[in-house]
Amino acid sequence: MRFGPGRPDLRGCSLSCLAEELARLGERPYRARQLFRWLHQKGAASWDEMTDLPQELRARLGERFDLYTLTIQEEHCSSDGTIKWKWRTVDGLFVESVYMPHGDSGGSGLEEDDVQDDEGAPRNRRRRTLCVSSQVGCAIGCTFCMTGTMGLARNLGPGEIADQVHRANRRLVGLGLGPAPRPLTNLVFMGMGEPLHNFENVKSALDLLLCQDGPNFSHRHVTVSTSGLVPQIRRLGEETQVKLAVSLNATTDSQRDRIMPVNRRYPLAELLQACRAFPMKQGRRITFEYVLLRGVNDADADAERLAKLIAGIPAKVNLIPYNDGPGLSFAAPEPARVEAFRDRLVRRNVTAVVRKDRGQDIAAACGQLAAEGGPGDPRRRKAGVEHPGNGPLAPGALPLSLEGRGQG
Ligand code: SAH
Ligand code: SF4
Repeated sequence: MRFGPGRPDLRGCSLSCLAEELARLGERPYRARQLFRWLHQKGAASWDEMTDLPQELRARLGERFDLYTLTIQEEHCSSDGTIKWKWRTVDGLFVESVYMPHGDSGGSGLEEDDVQDDEGAPRNRRRRTLCVSSQVGCAIGCTFCMTGTMGLARNLGPGEIADQVHRANRRLVGLGLGPAPRPLTNLVFMGMGEPLHNFENVKSALDLLLCQDGPNFSHRHVTVSTSGLVPQIRRLGEETQVKLAVSLNATTDSQRDRIMPVNRRYPLAELLQACRAFPMKQGRRITFEYVLLRGVNDADADAERLAKLIAGIPAKVNLIPYNDGPGLSFAAPEPARVEAFRDRLVRRNVTAVVRKDRGQDIAAACGQLAAEGGPGDPRRRKAGVEHPGNGPLAPGALPLSLEGRGQG
């Protein structure tokens, strides 16, 4: 079946929205759940797969909705088991997801030994984590990040965000890398984009991914990472139960202003206040990511300040030695400096781990995700092509208004 542009993305619809739609079509209520399972449990890529739905119903739905799916543009497998997929969207843009076996991560903030990050799961549970993208590019413009150099092309829709998980699950089953239908055990929103800058769509995607009739992820196994959008951190805490990671990356405002422009809008004191107020169930912790940049933020004094800044917050620090990217002018500290930094933190009773290099040989590590399809790419301007992330960009999106402190 072929569909024209402009219809809503069926995969972005909630179960209740499907139920309403099917009721309008005079269908029995159980059909909604059946359809939802096809979309989000089995990850159906086409109407033809939905064999137990009447042909005539599929055709009628096809008149109202598009059934988008991401397609694999590239697949890169690292010697350490990491797999990076470059997906093509329906309008010809590219985003990436990274699969990390064992659950420790290229920046996911999760480590195998971190039992509290995996509460409720047996200690020896095998983790398979997917690092998910939320936007094509990113508007935040951190100076050390490849994705930040792209600018923001557009938000991903809820269906596109969820579909990264579905495509990855299917592919992993195909490769014999985990049990069907859902090899993935954990999700981290640490791919391309700033998830909280695309709040509504990310939240809708979370609802799809956490739904019992969908892939049924536990909120304990889903982490959303942010550069520090304070109002949206509050909303995330109020409206979801997923875990929070914050890319701190600096210990003074002047330092952070320089490498993360978002700090001019939401300075450290406000950001940490929001972290302190973030609702956390017992045993839950916030992950603070800290990219170590040689000569910029890697001094002992930074470690001391970092420990002070987060004192009293149930937290762990994930130290990420800088990964080089073309055109970026930073360097990673020597390994001994990294260890010394970590030791300082540990002596202040801060849980701190140094992220293992993963997927370096395939540029899948933190901050190395950048694909064609950014604002400079002519392909993204394909006239008249509707995309499932449609609707206006989040308020203040293009460009992110960074003037003034502490506004909005
Ligand atoms: N936009 C969100 C999530 C995606 S970025 C955020 O910033 O939190 C995922 C992580 O990669 C962030 O912690 C970021 O600080 C880190 N990162 C970005 N560029 C990097 C680089 N060049 N080297 C190492 N880590 C980097
Ligand atoms: Fe965007 Fe995160 Fe990269 Fe900053 S680090 S530019 S917020 S993706």
